[in-house]
Order: sequence, then C-alpha cells, then structure tokens
Amino acid sequence: MNKEFLFDLLSTGSVSGNEAQIEKKIYDYMQDRADLVTVDELGNVTAALNPEADFKVLLAGHADEIGLMVTSVGGDGTLAVTNIGGIYTTTYPGHKVRIHTKNGVIYGAVANSRDTAKNGDLKASDLRIDIGAKDKEDALQYVDLGDTVTFDTDVRELLNNRITGRALDDRIGAFIVMEALGEAKKKGASVGCYAAATTGEETTGNGAFFTASRVKPNVAVAVDVTYTSDNCGISEALTGDIAVGKGPVLCNNPSVHKKLNLILRDCAKKLGMEVQTEAANGHTGTDGDTMHLTGIGVPFALVSIPLRYMHNPDEVGSLDDIQNCIDLLAEFFAACSEGMDLKPF
Ligand SMILES: [Zn+2]
Repeated sequence: MNKEFLFDLLSTGSVSGNEAQIEKKIYDYMQDRADLVTVDELGNVTAALNPEADFKVLLAGHADEIGLMVTSVGGDGTLAVTNIGGIYTTTYPGHKVRIHTKNGVIYGAVANSRDTAKNGDLKASDLRIDIGAKDKEDALQYVDLGDTVTFDTDVRELLNNRITGRALDDRIGAFIVMEALGEAKKKGASVGCYAAATTGEETTGNGAFFTASRVKPNVAVAVDVTYTSDNCGISEALTGDIAVGKGPVLCNNPSVHKKLNLILRDCAKKLGMEVQTEAANGHTGTDGDTMHLTGIGVPFALVSIPLRYMHNPDEVGSLDDIQNCIDLLAEFFAACSEGMDLKPF
C-alpha cells in the first residue's frame, strides 16, 4: 500500500459537503492506476477497470468526515458552530481546530471553562471558537459563514503497525477501494471494476446515490469502519466480537447479500486471511444502504475495518487490517464474473 498517500488523505480536511480537495487528490492519484477516472457534479471520484464490460462491480468508500460548520460570529470575534454529522460535542472544548476557508486554513482554539467542562448536556451551539480575532469585523475578514471546521490533528503511527488520527472513518475506506482497484488490475479481473470515493455519507448519502445511480452496478460493496468490542465502548452482545488487528469485518444483517458474504469468505480463505463477523439489525448506516436501493435494486455486502474511538479526534486502527482489506477486495474483484448467480435458490 502507498502509506504516504494514505497519510496525505488523512491530513486533508473533508467535512461532509466540502470534499473537493480530498477528491481532487484521489482523482490525480488514480490517473495512471485505472482505465478511466471520472468526477461528477458533487465531486464523487470513480475509477474503473474494463469500463466496456457489461457486468459491473462497485466498491465505495466515503471520503467525507464529520466536523463543524461556522454559523455566526459574535461581537467578540469568536465563532459559533453547528455539527456536521454525528460528533461528540464534549471532545471539542480545549482542543485546537482548523477552519477551512476559501483562502486556506485558519487555526482556532475551542473555548473551555469550568462551566463548559461540567456541562453534561453540551450542544454544538454552545461551542465558541477563538481564532484570535479582535472583534466580529476582524473575524469576518478571514472566515465565512458556512466554512467547515475539523480538529487540528493529523495521523501518527503507534506500536504494532497501528495508527491514530482524525476521521480514519472513512478516508481509509476511500483509500482501500482505490488500492484494491489497482491490485485487481494485476490479478486480471475481467468484470467492470469500479472504485468510488463518495461524498456526503456522514450527512445525506447523496454521494453513494449519485455514484451507484450512474454506474448502475450489478453488485456493490460498501467499505467503511465499524465499532470494536476490544476496548471501552461497544458490548460484544450488541454487534459481535470485533477487535483491531484481527482482519476485515463482514456484516450480517437483513439486507447484506448472503451469497456475496460467502464469496468474500472464499476469497479470504484463498488468501489464508482471517475475517471477523458483525451483526446489524436493519440498516447498516453506510453507503451500502443507499447503493442497495438505486436503480432496479443492487445486491450489496459491507466490508469494514475495525476502528476504536470512532468519531473522536484520535481514532485508532491497524495498517494490517487496511492491507488485508485491500487484498480481500482485489481478490473479490477477480472472483466476480458475468455468470455470477446471486439468487438464493
Ligand atoms: Zn463511515
């Protein structure tokens, strides 16, 4: 895997609705790794191998991240915000942030106080960002209402090939689908292979809708992150026994296609790779749900990377899991064929 490119993506601001910068990087990166690379009006980048083939397999990883958006500026020059996606409001006070403006990044500190720290019911609208401005007029010279905000954190390497950073969810997914497409080429995949870095997953799901509606895949795989039970947070009884470093996670739920899961399992077996299994009741909460209901209906699977501390400023995942996911999905591309029978009986 190209770790340098992965870390570049993880250092790029891409709050839902403001993904152009990260999508452009992916667009450029894929130029000599695919037969065709396209971008649509939302900024969804789709790379394809064998675009002339009738049978199409689409992998999607979302390139957007959660964050904040500037809603107003106070007389004292501090910024008020709303949330974009499912943030944990209490992770923001006392933290440095980046405001992504049309002229580049402006830095800020999120105000904190004893009262704020003790407020168990803190809302995004309670947060104030201090950018050093003298007053409202001063702040508005640099920041526009609607500018997006991310934590001022980047990726760092931890022990045992693990990494920590902001919004591995789901920039690692966008990275994985693109790397898998590159590997599928080497494996001689014969179907139409498509890898998409989608926009808007954390908010509207519009990116997956645009992408799948236009590609019209026969089969789709959403590549995202999932909660683990190996640390504080999620109980094993809720979704399954999932740990960082133990391999890609396949999802069982009412809409994930069981035959696709079997094919993915066979691919893992062929590679001598362990996979983990999670359960979900109802929707997966991923681009898979959206792609599934486009066109005449699309059978889909969900392949996830185990992730600790999801939607926090410093999530933790494993480079080994990322590499295994790339290998698994490249193998899956090669295992798909026009004659695939996905009917259950
Ligand atoms: Zn996600």
